[in-house]
Amino acid sequence: TKLPNRSFFAKTLRRFWEAYASGAGERFAVFFIDLDRFKLVNDTLGHLAGDHLLAEAGNRIRSCMRHKDFMARLGGDEFAVLLSGMEQIEGCEMIAQRMVDEFERPIIIAGREVFTTASLGVVLADKEHHHSAEELLRDADHAMYRTKQQGRHGYTVFNHELRADQADQLAMEAELRRALDESDQLVPYYQPFIDARTGHLAGFEALVRWQHPQRGLIAPSVFLPVAEESGLIMRLDRYMIQAACGQLRQWLDSGRVGEHIALHINLSSANLHDTGLVDWMRALMAQHGLRPGMLHLEITETALIDVPDIAATVMAELHDMGVRLALDDFGTGYSALSYLHRYQFDVLKIDQSFVLDVDRKEESAAIVRAILALADALSLEVVAEGVETLSQLWRLRMMGCEKVQGFLFSHPSLARDIDWGRLATIVQEFAIA
Ligand code: C2E
Ligand code: CA
Ligand code: CA
Repeated sequence: TKLPNRSFFAKTLRRFWEAYASGAGERFAVFFIDLDRFKLVNDTLGHLAGDHLLAEAGNRIRSCMRHKDFMARLGGDEFAVLLSGMEQIEGCEMIAQRMVDEFERPIIIAGREVFTTASLGVVLADKEHHHSAEELLRDADHAMYRTKQQGRHGYTVFNHELRADQADQLAMEAELRRALDESDQLVPYYQPFIDARTGHLAGFEALVRWQHPQRGLIAPSVFLPVAEESGLIMRLDRYMIQAACGQLRQWLDSGRVGEHIALHINLSSANLHDTGLVDWMRALMAQHGLRPGMLHLEITETALIDVPDIAATVMAELHDMGVRLALDDFGTGYSALSYLHRYQFDVLKIDQSFVLDVDRKEESAAIVRAILALADALSLEVVAEGVETLSQLWRLRMMGCEKVQGFLFSHPSLARDIDWGRLATIVQEFAIA
């Protein structure tokens, strides 16, 4: 792209900031721009196509800038723009909207139409609130992240609400760090899943909960985003793997479960950068005397869109070690089907949204049927999640779905609250039907 890099951008930003802060220079804005699904283009069409896309994205961004503005490529598919002489946020918003619109048109690469959109974060330098150039880039990045969270393709202005939000997040991050240090605040819950043919217990999925000393039980949807953004997710996931493996050992020893049981644990894609994960897991499995094949790591489909190449290496190593990989929330992520093969998945988890009306809506039933056919062709196992009613269960059984998980059988619970008696009776219910 022949664009200035991150360190050059940082220098220029500092110069702008110092001029503005001292009263000698103009007020200015910083845009943080991240292309959506760039990795997918790179993966499916190749690196040359990726380079072409980056160059074209750079051109489109530049077409919205004035001479005196400055653009850099921060790395990967991230760009930053410095807009000088911006007094009002309205002006920034106009330019941001124009940039977003620039990505409405497809980009032609090797005769193919490729659609990529952009997520922007916008911040206007503010002497009252900012103390350094670095804070501006951080705030623009934070606003961009918000755009991604709200479904990508658009812009977000960093404002008071986001600032308050950021303060909350920093507070929560500090508390989460403490919770990880002191343990016993973060607790694994377990939800069983069932063999759809026989009604036998097939395994458990471990799901994290935060037992906060003041705020009570907190759901993962509340604190996982903070854990992800702060990097604490790596510690959290390792903690869960450790706790769940210990629990499985205990269940095996007490005869609660047999060797055929599967233990599913969720893994954030951040862990796939971590080349130490594999050895750590190998040691852990050995310590507990667990067969690696019992352990399944669930990775969400959307998370794979932005992973770097090293992820494929880490996943291949996990796979070689015998640990099994499950693709979570399948059907929601628009990922390439080739990912199934490339990342060597063993299991597909059909997303709840399709199970929800599989018995009432032909569209959902068709999607579930297609996923089952795909899994069958690729010799993948399937777990349908979010099964809440008998009617959904019958439909899934009829379609030949192998495993089912959901409130119909059990809510996630503490290990000590698992209703083993109830789990044992499911076999009879299945036999009658
Ligand atoms: P998920 O992996 O898709 O987990 C399934 C979610 O659906 C869980 O929400 C579960 O409680 C809920 N669920 C189970 N059965 C039913 C049902 O019949 N109906 C409905 N409506 N919901 C059902 P939960 O526990 O709040 O977890 C939310 C998400 O947080 C998980 O989605 C997973 O992506 C993530 N997560 C949970 N624990 C961990 C963890 O230890 N590490 C990581 N990285 N992510 C985790
Ligand atoms: Ca999961
Ligand atoms: Ca899921």
